[in-house]
Amino acid sequence: MSPITADRVWRHIGQLVTVTGDGPAELGIISDAALAAHAGRIVWVGPDTEVDKSITPSPAAIVYDAEGRLVTPGFVDSHTHLVWAGSRAAEFHERLSGTGYTAQLGSGRGILSTVAATRTASEETLFAIAMERLRACLRYGSTTVEVKTGYGLDFATEDRSLRVIERLAAHSRATNGPRIVSTFMGAHVVPAEYRDSRTKYVRLIVDKMLPAFAGRARFCDVFCEDIAFDVDESRAILGRAAELGYGIKLHANQLGPSGGALLAAELRAASADHLDHLADDEIGALRAAGVVATLLPGCSMTLREPYPDGRRLIDAGLTVALATDYNPGTCACENMQLMLSLACLNMGLTIEEALRAATLGGARALRLDHEVGSLEPGKWCDLLVWNCASYLELGYGLGASRLHQAFIAGNSGLSAAAL
Ligand SMILES: [Zn+2]
Repeated sequence: MSPITADRVWRHIGQLVTVTGDGPAELGIISDAALAAHAGRIVWVGPDTEVDKSITPSPAAIVYDAEGRLVTPGFVDSHTHLVWAGSRAAEFHERLSGTGYTAQLGSGRGILSTVAATRTASEETLFAIAMERLRACLRYGSTTVEVKTGYGLDFATEDRSLRVIERLAAHSRATNGPRIVSTFMGAHVVPAEYRDSRTKYVRLIVDKMLPAFAGRARFCDVFCEDIAFDVDESRAILGRAAELGYGIKLHANQLGPSGGALLAAELRAASADHLDHLADDEIGALRAAGVVATLLPGCSMTLREPYPDGRRLIDAGLTVALATDYNPGTCACENMQLMLSLACLNMGLTIEEALRAATLGGARALRLDHEVGSLEPGKWCDLLVWNCASYLELGYGLGASRLHQAFIAGNSGLSAAAL
């Protein structure tokens, strides 16, 4: 009898992508594989021919037959904005005829129009809307989802948004939904009522919001950009956040060379996200500080801007994560499978690099790579069973989901019947 007990076993996996190994394109593939889990965690991975001698199924064990399908880790979508009300569809169409994103924000629209709609929405309404979006994330294979506040920009609505995220997390735990990581982003833009006294808004975040939300949000994120917060303001907010125990993230160098990337390195942030405008010294600083570079190809597509050069970042030795940046203005898309395709088509990543960035890279961007992001003993059994036999299908298929079933902590969060 093997000493390894398992209450879940997946057999006849045609291609098991474990995402183990060190290189940026390393996928740790095992053909004709099996995987076993117990109490939600992976306990064994190996060739199917060895499963009988390696595992002792518990009396109530469930054995799944993957019937030759591809199995990968669940996607870790490390950057989303799920909690907001209203719609920016009209602004999307206006931009198609030439009006710029920055011009819309300057005239009180863009993020600010979503803030107005979110402030008047009840907690129940926001929860219902966000829950619907979270289900869509899971339908496309995200088993861990980071969710930011940032459409309240006053104490009451930021607090309400955070409560909505806490409820998403509780609901997910009860229903085998995606793991939720919460991020406070009160520094998204300066709200209209503080336009002429922006220092007061920074003080409100530093003195009131950050202490009140400490322990409730895992990360603090700042939009460090000309149209949002400059480097000194961002440093004041994030420095205080670090003192209070938040992890640090930045929206950095998206619309121009904002200085956000160097600040991310200075503060040893978990990730710097966007990085459309990046000089060589900034890449070096991010690498030296161990900051994950999070690429968000859906934004470049929606804004019809040049894509960041992901190839350059990987060749420079940075750890890259791939995420949706689901949000109302610049990427209304929960589909991580499409992000894989866009990264391959437009950012110079191979499918191997893109798949690794969407799983283990995302986990590193959330400092959760000891728990999720790859399929190896000790980690949570968060896995995807696909309606195809090879990972090559994932970058090739555009838009439509090839997901067959998603499991979180070994439990079925979603079956093909629910897709
Ligand atoms: Zn974002």
